[in-house]
Amino acid sequence: AAQAGGAVRLVAPPDAQSLTKAETAHKFGHGHALILTGGAGTTGAARLAARAALRIGAGVVTLGVPPSAQMEVAAQITALMLRRIEDGKTLYAALTDKRITALCLGPGMGTARARDLVPVVLRHESAPRVVLDADALTAFADAPETLFGLLHEGCVLTPHGGEFARLFPDIAARLAAPATQGPAYSKVEATREAAKRAGCVVLLKGADTVIAAPDGACAIHAAAYGRAAPWLATAGAGDVLAGFVAGLLARGFPPMQAAETAAWLHGECARCFGPGLIAEDLPEVLPKVLRALP
Ligand code: AMP
Ligand code: MG
Repeated sequence: AAQAGGAVRLVAPPDAQSLTKAETAHKFGHGHALILTGGAGTTGAARLAARAALRIGAGVVTLGVPPSAQMEVAAQITALMLRRIEDGKTLYAALTDKRITALCLGPGMGTARARDLVPVVLRHESAPRVVLDADALTAFADAPETLFGLLHEGCVLTPHGGEFARLFPDIAARLAAPATQGPAYSKVEATREAAKRAGCVVLLKGADTVIAAPDGACAIHAAAYGRAAPWLATAGAGDVLAGFVAGLLARGFPPMQAAETAAWLHGECARCFGPGLIAEDLPEVLPKVLRALP
């Protein structure tokens, strides 16, 4: 049945060349990623994503914080920049006057803030590429069609199973249904169907990760092929993945390639680190993984 939508590839190791920086590189030549945090006490997930985006080679990474979180974040950041983003107006202005090439929306953001700010980004005339994860997906659980109406081909959705089921309840139900209730979907078919509906790349996480584009292109990164690393079953691992995707989008990777490259490097970082892994180890071990690429 998986053949119905065409061949499915395995996510391949990225080409080292695509991840290096030119001798004459300038930071703004490698893109500027804006990562929005939530309020005080919920900034950790976005900070993890920001560190991941920097490590994977975005030239500049800015954390967009509401006033309540400004002190908390300022006390932590080093190579990151900080910008106060309190509402849709300030976000709109930031997208206009900064050369922001990609955004990461969702990790730790809070659903109320996500509901306000996601449409501002997706409607903005500068059309930055965007990864939507966590609260940026959950915020639209009551109105997924509203979100689908705003998404464009520069977007990547990175739901885990629960987030996927909230956005695509009918597809998820078929995925979970016993065979007696009609033909059940494979995870490949479900992800392809979701990508078609969303109109952008969907990366459905789990021990098996499936990545699909609206045109039917599909790749998997799965335990069955010796690729997945169970050390990733730890809090914050998904936030780092979203940061990797954002960093690659900021650098100019097309969405499908950004999602596949991020998934491969994420898994490889976990394998390289091994037992005892916590999410913040992933960006720190990335340089070793990058150096070992063929
Ligand atoms: P999240 O649920 O958002 O924190 O994302 C968890 C991340 O860890 C995703 O990238 C998953 O694909 C990955 N992950 C979770 N459990 C496993 C597992 N058992 N084996 C491999 N990867 C996993
Ligand atoms: Mg998550």
